[in-house]
Amino acid sequence: MSLAGRLAGRAHVVLLEREALLAMHTTGRSAAVFTEAYGNATVRALTSEARPFFVNPPSGFADHPLLTPRTTLFVARPEHEGTLKEWLTENPRVSRAVPLHEAYDRMPILRRNLFAAAAEEPGAADIDVHGLFEGFRRMAVHGGVDIVTSAEVLGVVRAGERWSVETDKGAYTGRVVVNAAGAWAGRVGIVAGLGDRGLMPLRRTAITFEGPEGGDASKWMFVNDISEEFYFKPEAGLVLASPTDETPSEPCDAQPEEIDVATIAWRIEEVTTMKVNRIRRKWAGLRTFTPDRTPIFEFDASAPGFFWLAGQGGYGIQTSPSISLHAAARILHYLG
Ligand SMILES: Cc1cc2nc3c(=O)[nH]c(=O)nc-3n(C[C@H](O)[C@H](O)[C@H](O)COP(=O)(O)OP(=O)(O)OC[C@H]3O[C@@H](n4cnc5c(N)ncnc54)[C@H](O)[C@@H]3O)c2cc1C
Repeated sequence: MSLAGRLAGRAHVVLLEREALLAMHTTGRSAAVFTEAYGNATVRALTSEARPFFVNPPSGFADHPLLTPRTTLFVARPEHEGTLKEWLTENPRVSRAVPLHEAYDRMPILRRNLFAAAAEEPGAADIDVHGLFEGFRRMAVHGGVDIVTSAEVLGVVRAGERWSVETDKGAYTGRVVVNAAGAWAGRVGIVAGLGDRGLMPLRRTAITFEGPEGGDASKWMFVNDISEEFYFKPEAGLVLASPTDETPSEPCDAQPEEIDVATIAWRIEEVTTMKVNRIRRKWAGLRTFTPDRTPIFEFDASAPGFFWLAGQGGYGIQTSPSISLHAAARILHYLG
């Protein structure tokens, strides 16, 4: 949708979505976090590049701020102190070490004596994902993009200078076809005869539950385990948590497995003084990665006009303003 918004008014664009509802797969299932210290160097650069858009979107794009500041606190158990040091070294501009006593003062629900070190990213934030998606959708619609829902792409073939895309609502042709099918991007690549670029959907689970009674959790930090065993943060009066699982999956409407839900409930009780008594919601989504965990937004080297926009992994929301800008520039250049 972000790319459709960027191309709107500059090219004739048709967006084909298999589902009747937009954003019902990974985009509607994220943790809504903006962090410039996440992912490899390319992903971090793309995220930093996106910050000005989030802070100052085009006029009329959103009714509310797209970012709400929320410091990220990283904690490390003794065996992972080295990983935290590496993280600090890799992210000198946006991170700083935090004395443990300060971490405990600011997050008193953390169990004492479990952790050996802490660090923070003060510039991290919550993203208004709905506001962002709606902004790009409005941008697309105002610029004449034709959004066709309940239109599953079944075939993609090159016919002369154009591509023909077969859907269950008929065929569409164009000089450029963009494969932005999320967890299904590998499948669509195979359908087009171009392979799957090694794209791998990995399931991630999240829950929300009632936080401590009488306490106001809304100002808590986003607490992350540096060894990626858990994270939690406040979310609309509740606490959102994830066991940060990465289970290989076929592309599908991902559902949470009981074992992953039980794991995160157990970990939260292990590392904090909270009790996970009432889980309000549980869900899972597929984060799709390339083999080197760098998103792809480029034309296929062997198929002129076939553009890959895939493998955004766990960073597709926070990088959407920058990736869409680069992708649109490449496509408009191709179209001449
Ligand atoms: C639990 C969880 C937490 C996350 N947290 C964050 C976070 O904090 N910050 C962040 O930046 N990112 C986060 N992410 C990652 C982010 O959500 C994804 O990178 C992003 O949503 C990917 O967007 P997408 O448009 O590629 O995929 P999707 O939103 O899945 O969109 C792909 C669309 O293609 C459609 N489609 C597939 N096949 C076809 C076909 N054959 N024909 C027609 N349509 C088709 C699908 O129906 C789908 O709507 C998280 C993800 C999960 C699961």
